[in-house]
Amino acid sequence: MSDALESAREALRRVFGFEAFRGRQANVVARVLAGQSTLAIMPTGAGKSLTYQLPATLLEGTCVVISPLIALMHDQLRSARANGIRAATLTSVDEDWRETQDAFRAGELDLLYVAPERASQPHFRELLSQGRIALFAVDEAHCVSEWGHDFRPDYRMLAPLMDAFADVPRLALTATADEHTRKDILHQLGIPEEGMVVAGFDRPNIRYAIRHRQGLQGQLERLLEEHPGPGIIYAPTRRKVEELAEKLAAATGRTVLPYHAGLPPERRAGNQSAFVASEDMVVVATIAFGMGIDKPDVRFVAHAGIPKSIEAYYQETGRAGRDGDPAQAVMFWSAGDFAQARQRLGEVEEARQQGERARLDALAGLVETSTCRRAVLLRHFGEDPPETCGNCDNCLDPPQVVEATELARKLLSAVYRTGQTYGFGHVQKVLTGASDERVEQRGHDRLSVFGIVEGEEARLLQPLARALQARGALVQTEHGGLALGGDARDILKGEAEVTITRPPERQQRRGGRKGR
Ligand code: ADP
Ligand code: ZN
Repeated sequence: MSDALESAREALRRVFGFEAFRGRQANVVARVLAGQSTLAIMPTGAGKSLTYQLPATLLEGTCVVISPLIALMHDQLRSARANGIRAATLTSVDEDWRETQDAFRAGELDLLYVAPERASQPHFRELLSQGRIALFAVDEAHCVSEWGHDFRPDYRMLAPLMDAFADVPRLALTATADEHTRKDILHQLGIPEEGMVVAGFDRPNIRYAIRHRQGLQGQLERLLEEHPGPGIIYAPTRRKVEELAEKLAAATGRTVLPYHAGLPPERRAGNQSAFVASEDMVVVATIAFGMGIDKPDVRFVAHAGIPKSIEAYYQETGRAGRDGDPAQAVMFWSAGDFAQARQRLGEVEEARQQGERARLDALAGLVETSTCRRAVLLRHFGEDPPETCGNCDNCLDPPQVVEATELARKLLSAVYRTGQTYGFGHVQKVLTGASDERVEQRGHDRLSVFGIVEGEEARLLQPLARALQARGALVQTEHGGLALGGDARDILKGEAEVTITRPPERQQRRGGRKGR
């Protein structure tokens, strides 16, 4: 072990009171102490702050930390000071600017937290030139990339600022980075490729399951029966939150409380602290819930609709089982979720569309896969996991995979031939030769695709349409009809393949009863 790492371990015990580094903290700290620029990618809660706070106590000069949220900065300030680290913030709400600046110039600060908008201020650059900087730490570094989910133009001013202090090493930190975003961060912040350190994202005690949504209320009731412990259910809208909380409480007799940004602050705070203290409560919430709550024994996290991205899914499901005991993450999705999300893509600014689309495609890949969910997740975060984990729905109960390229061509042709304006029901009738008034009126019973699907194949049409919608080959029009999109043309030309997972028997029968 190098001398530097030796003194780092000593400081870890002395300053922070920790016995050992966690995950890849030691790698990051060693690089920083050696003056090497680094991009640290670690999940939330992995302990990113320590990787600059600790070097800040050992290196000559001040570590300048760029952090986007003032509230988080002040949390960090408190905890750093509690450990005896000399820290300060320069934000619009601080009143001790003069003292802070003097302390910086005098070399009496280990940590100086600033918001990214400072970076473009000449005054700030001048201040920095009057003291000694040990390290630039860029928190939430994905904000520098338009590929990231949270682009902030101010972050673009960081590189020119840091370039003015070219010999100061840089440490970029983020929990959320797909491959594009990562490369972009390295590029934008001038960090060499070998400077990327990716920490373990695996949460082995979480069992992942992703199911098609079908009678959501009943599905959630069964989940609550299986899990008497505390749980979180994420729902897409405030209304859905209220409705589910009420119905689930009535149906199960358990305490089920709502949480969303529209509730009065007292009620929100009350529900949150009741949940944290409880051993059996369920919270139905919008994604506003969970940030910064510390409850290690959450036994399940359910999604009543698709999350925004794999990153969001990972973060939200990551609130389950922090104590290391078995926990479950279940997502209930529908093709309509993807259709809506793809429709909303049109409203996103041009520059971000490509990134948003890639994120949605990646999520569809996770939802649609017949292989190990954990492996898909971990590969997304740049890891090289085993092919199977033994603790996800697909590993525990491998789904039957069906080759459906030919059937997909039939379905896509029928959508095309009928003019890309009809919903699934109509297209299905045409394909299966179930003529009705509308089919006849439009002359669709005379199309070459009329009645070309029968028997077993007919039962696969619905799951196939779902899968095609998830991957974007079928998109929903404004009026709820289906149209070709994504790689539909490649599928039609025989240049892309389609496989789907056969739905379990029970679900098939249900679908049938509804007369779909
Ligand atoms: P992140 O910024 O990656 O989300 P934090 O820096 O907030 O994570 O750290 C999460 C928690 O882990 C904090 O309570 C921190 O004190 C704790 N922690 C960090 N490193 C260690 C360690 N080596 N040993 C024990 N606890 C640690
Ligand atoms: Zn698995």
